[in-house]
Amino acid sequence: MENKFPGKDITDEDLKSKFPLAAKKNKNHTSKIKVNRTIFGGKLIPIMAGPNMVESEKMIIKTAFAVKKSGAQFLRGGAFKPLSFPYRGQKYTETREQGIKWLSKAKKETGIGIITEVMEEKYLDLVASVADIIQIGSRNMQNYPFLTKIAKVGKPILLKRHYGASLRDWLGAAEYILYEGNKNLILCERGMSIPHTHRQTSRFSLDLQVIPAAKEVCHLPIISDPSHATFWRPWVAPMTTASIGAGADGIMLEVHPDPKNAAVDPLQPINFREFSDLMKISRKVASAIGRKIK
Ligand code: PEP
Ligand code: MN
Repeated sequence: MENKFPGKDITDEDLKSKFPLAAKKNKNHTSKIKVNRTIFGGKLIPIMAGPNMVESEKMIIKTAFAVKKSGAQFLRGGAFKPLSFPYRGQKYTETREQGIKWLSKAKKETGIGIITEVMEEKYLDLVASVADIIQIGSRNMQNYPFLTKIAKVGKPILLKRHYGASLRDWLGAAEYILYEGNKNLILCERGMSIPHTHRQTSRFSLDLQVIPAAKEVCHLPIISDPSHATFWRPWVAPMTTASIGAGADGIMLEVHPDPKNAAVDPLQPINFREFSDLMKISRKVASAIGRKIK
């Protein structure tokens, strides 16, 4: 059996038998996925930006206006959150149904697209009612029955890579969605877990190499989330431009009106000004490699 990669994780046989729908049919096979008026997988590198969590109506509307003005096509933000620890201190309370209403209001007032996460099947219809793209979080990447249910709703999907998953397992998860006939699927790299002994930087490490690796075997657009990967504000900008250089088909960024007081992970979001500056640099990097940021 011939191995596709030096890493020997994906074989030609896998492409035919394990993920025939996710696999490229030929060298130039790349899917273009249209969401609202934005196309993923073409020259444009779409931007998704917003807080980790939808905290209040005022903050999400304010953020929607700010990120749209600086070039984002989508507002991100969780109303339902996979928090790493179960405690619900005042600051960590999810806004749930209310948060979905606020996202809907932000969409109405600004016309921006919405991407938000679904955690439980019972909220799937509610989340789908506001989301232009349904986000499947890293922690649910291998919840196969849930992937199938989400795919059946027929909305575009962003499938985040689990921080311990190989490319092979990630494409296996993507295949479950494609198998349901939902072709509007985008992949998102968000950083891998690294062993404690190697943690000279942070909890996660952005796997930039997976971008060209995925493109070698798979036709789906792949975007990068430097905020979750770095967990640390000063590294977000360099990892964003690096992602663009690596060939990312989109960027997801945490942007907050008041980062230090963010309800969740206050070390990772950038503020409106930093976002606007980052977009300016990113446009130059994109243009240098023949791509475009709005
Ligand atoms: C998020 O995007 O808010 C999120 C929880 O990301 P991840 O699933 O990658 O941790
Ligand atoms: Mn998060």
